[in-house]
Order: sequence, then structure tokens, then C-alpha cells
Amino acid sequence: MQLRHRPHRSYGAATGRVYVTNARREYSEAETVALIAQVAGRCPLCDKPLFYEKGKRRYKAYELAHIYPLNPHPEELVVLANVPRLSADVNDPDNLIPLCESSHGRFDKPRTEEEYLELYEIKREALREERQRSLASQYPLEKQISAVVAHLHSAAVEIDSGVALALTAKSVDHKFDGTMPPTTKRKVRNAVQDYFRHVQSAFLELERSDPGCTELIFVQVKSFYVMQKREQLSQGQVFTNLVAWIHARARAHTLESAEAVASFFIQNCEVFE
Ligand SMILES: [Zn+2]
Repeated sequence: MQLRHRPHRSYGAATGRVYVTNARREYSEAETVALIAQVAGRCPLCDKPLFYEKGKRRYKAYELAHIYPLNPHPEELVVLANVPRLSADVNDPDNLIPLCESSHGRFDKPRTEEEYLELYEIKREALREERQRSLASQYPLEKQISAVVAHLHSAAVEIDSGVALALTAKSVDHKFDGTMPPTTKRKVRNAVQDYFRHVQSAFLELERSDPGCTELIFVQVKSFYVMQKREQLSQGQVFTNLVAWIHARARAHTLESAEAVASFFIQNCEVFE
């Protein structure tokens, strides 16, 4: 049976004032596992593991912390008067995060606006990543993409040279807007320069052995990009997500080869038209 939380009234003994107290809700095993997975099993404030081993057994070393307090003290109501919230319901798993015991103690006493906002941002990012993983898993990518990525490993890739380089770099540059960080721009530009022809010839080779497959892959990448655009993400985030998607689907050995293929799709107009 699901426990529903219901605020109930109690009287403050000293002041005689009426407080509204929220009861702490119990969390199912599935909810707890999901919360621990969001922080990759480590305390997001100090990076300590959330479990410890003794003998042959594992024990939990975490507590589920309310980011916005379950029952804020009068001072906390003042300190946190204008902060953004992750959920209107304090007991919603979106307002909870596992912390190691000592970080939890420090976070709670006393709660500052700065520390609240830090944890709020950590949780928001974790929720964003979780959403991205579940979105990415819904978008198919033909497994032949692996052959294209593998091609970058097998061939001793030589750096292209000469005039063509400057032309390629220039044409990829105008795909970027202000939301693309300079370091990522440089990465894409370099990948295009070093790998564009190799990725292109890998696709030509694939097309010869499996006609139509290239077009299918291009359409799939395009639809992944359109989905990302609908999420209103920055170009930098779109690139990161595209690389992660290709990396996972192509079972690429290195992130660099996934970046090379993602950069190819930018140059080739499937992404950032
Ligand atoms: Zn900690």
C-alpha cells in the first residue's frame, strides 16, 4: 500500500503557535535505487561511496536528504523564501537526494541559501541527465554505425593537409551559435579536419555493401537532433548528447571516434543546419 503524506497540525509547546508538520514518506526500493543511480552511488557533496563493505556484506552509508526541508524552521523559511524548488511536494523524489551521513548533517545544520542552491543544481543536472538517457534510448541508430566508427580505428588515420583544410574549417564554423563553447568549437573543427574524409569514405564503403543504410543512418541522426532541438538545449549540450548516443550505440572504443563521427554530421548538415 502506498503511504500518502498528509500534513497534520501540532502545537509548539513553548510558543503555543500552530505548526503544519509534513510526515516523511516511505520510499519504495525502486525509488531508492533510482535516486542512488542518479548520483552514481556516490555522495554528490564529498564523493564518498554510499555503501561500505565489511566481511562479505555491503552496508548502506547514506541517508535520503530533503533538498528543500520537510519541515522548515522559521529561520529556514526566511533563508529559503525566494529559492527555486524542484517540486511543490517536499516528499516528491525530485526533492530528495542521497547524501553520506556527515554531508547530510552538515547540509541540514544550519541550512544556508548557498548550500541549498548548490544541491538544487546538482539534482537538477542529475534529473536532466536521467531524462536525456531515457530519451536517447528511444532513438534507434542502425548497428552498422559501428563499422563507420571502427573504420577510424583500423585505418591509420593521417591528418589531411593543405588548402582543403581551411575550406572545411570555415564551412563548419558558421554552423555554430553563441551557445557553443569555444573549446567544443575547436574540438569539432579539429575532428572535421582530421577525420572528415575518413568518415565519408567509411560511409561510401558501407553504402556499397549495404545500399540505403547510409541514408537511414543520416535520417536517424537528423531525428535525434530534432528531438534535441525541441528540448531547447544549447549547441554544446546537443553535441555532448549526440556524442554519448553514438558512443553507446556504436559501442565505440574511444570517445574521440564518436566525436569524429558527430562532427561529421555537423559538417554534413544533419546537425546544426
Ligand atoms: Zn558526503
